[in-house]
Formats: sequence, C-alpha cells, structure tokens
Amino acid sequence: MELIDGNQIAAAIIAELKTEVAGLTGRKPCIALVRVGDDPASVSYVKKKEKTAAEIGIEGRIHLPPVDITQEDLFALIDRLNADPGVDGILVQSPLPKHIDELAVFRRVAPEKDVDGFNTLNLGKVAQEDDTGFVACTPAGIMELLARSGTDLKGKHVVVLGRSLIVGKPVALLALQKKAGANGTVTICHSGTTNLPSFTRQADVLIAAIGRAEFVTADMVKPGAVVIDVGINRLPDPAKKSGYRLVGDVHFASVAPLCSKITPVPGGVGPMTVAMLMQNTVKAHRLNPRR
Ligand code: NDP
Repeated sequence: MELIDGNQIAAAIIAELKTEVAGLTGRKPCIALVRVGDDPASVSYVKKKEKTAAEIGIEGRIHLPPVDITQEDLFALIDRLNADPGVDGILVQSPLPKHIDELAVFRRVAPEKDVDGFNTLNLGKVAQEDDTGFVACTPAGIMELLARSGTDLKGKHVVVLGRSLIVGKPVALLALQKKAGANGTVTICHSGTTNLPSFTRQADVLIAAIGRAEFVTADMVKPGAVVIDVGINRLPDPAKKSGYRLVGDVHFASVAPLCSKITPVPGGVGPMTVAMLMQNTVKAHRLNPRR
C-alpha cells in the first residue's frame, strides 16, 4: 500500500507557484478572502489560505463582514471586489450564515475572479471540457493527487460517493473528461443509492465525499483499489487537547491494507484544496488584462 502524501504534493505545487510569482514583473497576484462571522473552522481555513498566499508572494486582502450582514450588503461587497482592478481572485468562505443564499453569492462573483470555481459559468466549463475557466479547488486537487501519484483513470471504474456541487459532481465530471489522465468510467452514488456497497466494491478508484465519519469499511472496497478520502469529520477524543480527532469518510485502519494507494486524513486532499486555490489565483492574475 502506498500513501498518497497530500502535504508533500501540495508543497511541490506551492514551490512551483512561488517560483512563477517571483518571476513576475509588475503587480503581484491578489486574492480577496471574505469571511462572514467567526465560525471556528472558517477562521482556521481563511488563516491557512492567507498564510499560504503570503508564502507564495500573493497579496491576501481580508474582508470580515459581521455575521448579520444582509444579502444585499454582501452582494455590494462582492460587486466592489469584482470591479476592483487590483483584485484577481475572490474567495467567499463557506459555510455562510443561514440567512444568506450561498449559491446566489457564488454566482455573484465575476467568473473571471471565481478562483473557487463555484460560479455557474465555471462549473459549465468543466462540463464542456473548456480549460479557460476555473475548476473548483477540491475536485482539482483530487485530480492533481491522482495525476502526481501516477494514477491514470483511463479504462478504470471510478466510483464517487457524494454529489455535492463543490466536490462530488465536479470531480465526477473531471474524471469523465475525454482527456489524458481522465477518461474514466464514472458512477456517482448518493443517499438515494440502493445497495451502495455493490457499487463501491466495483471501484478501481473510489472517491469518498459524503461527510460521514469512517463510513467506508473494508468490506466495501475492492482489493487493490485506489482510495481518495475527501471527508473531514471530527470525532470526540478526550485524549486530544482539542477534544476531538479528525477522521475521513473512510475507515483508514481497515481499508488501507487492502488498497494499492490511499490518501490519509489529515494530510491528503485537504492541503491540495489550498494549493489549487493559489494555482487558480495565479491563473486569474495571468488572465487579468488589467494586471
Ligand atoms: P455535502 O454534505 O454537501 O454532500 C454530501 C453528499 O454525500 C451528498 O450528495 C449526500 O447525498 C451524500 N451522502 C450523505 N450521506 C450519505 C450516505 N449515507 N450514503 C450515500 N451518500 C450519502 O458534503 P460536501 O461534498 O461539501 O463534503 C463532503 C465531505 O468532504 C465532508 O466531510 C467535508 O467536510 C469534506 N470536504 C473536504 C474538503 C477538503 O478540502 N478536504 C473540501 C470540501 C469538503 P444527497 O445528495 O442525496 O444528500
């Protein structure tokens, strides 16, 4: 069994971006990071994104509107960032408070600054296999992990657990693309799937993104499969200072010995998401006619 080391692969991508940014003349890339309220997970995600941006030489501009901001005021902030020629990319940290229509916010971000890849146009470009857009960071990170660990999806049965707009659907579309490294035969499972293990057991490559702690057990995995665990779940653990431990959607201890390759949690897909956000920001800067 080979462990796919997301920390190491993300570090290599960040180093590549750092070299690219150091070679730029003129204004450096700039990402606006918008965090509404003080959700602890969001605070730590935005901090990590700000720190990684700084490491690469990307300017990070932080916007912290209050948790009770109205939808209209949030739209107004996004409109200002959309119009600001010095901002290449905009990230609105999810989840947003319940009174805000999250999808409407994602759609409000100008497609050419949508480094999160959640805008309708950019999702559509993934379906059309048009590389001029931005691919959502977690799905892009999964594809990069597969490519850099030498997993070609051609001729493989790829089973995706989960059909969310931010992970399941886009990663299924990417795996399906008629391109080098992709070209997989893809099945998507969700909460309405009957006899889910009968599908997972057929997977040459299993991508688990359902948000259920240690849901995928050894009896659900074909020996020799490649397993990508996207899940980030907190299980109570009094032995830890934080009071919890992070686990994926896969029961790592029992599944790992069966696999040819597997990503750990933490240290698998998570670091790739941030690296791909930075890659998208550098791309947005490259494509920005006003840089
Ligand atoms: P969502 O809650 O948006 O979607 C979960 C999907 O899983 C849904 O399609 C749902 O089905 C399906 N599902 C839920 N329970 C079951 C079940 N018992 N059997 C089959 N399908 C099920 O989650 P996300 O896609 O946003 O995230 C998934 C996981 O990935 C989470 O743990 C999240 O924390 C993690 N994540 C990690 C990231 C990273 O950087 N590593 C980034 C983003 C997410 P239905 O559609 O029918 O409701």
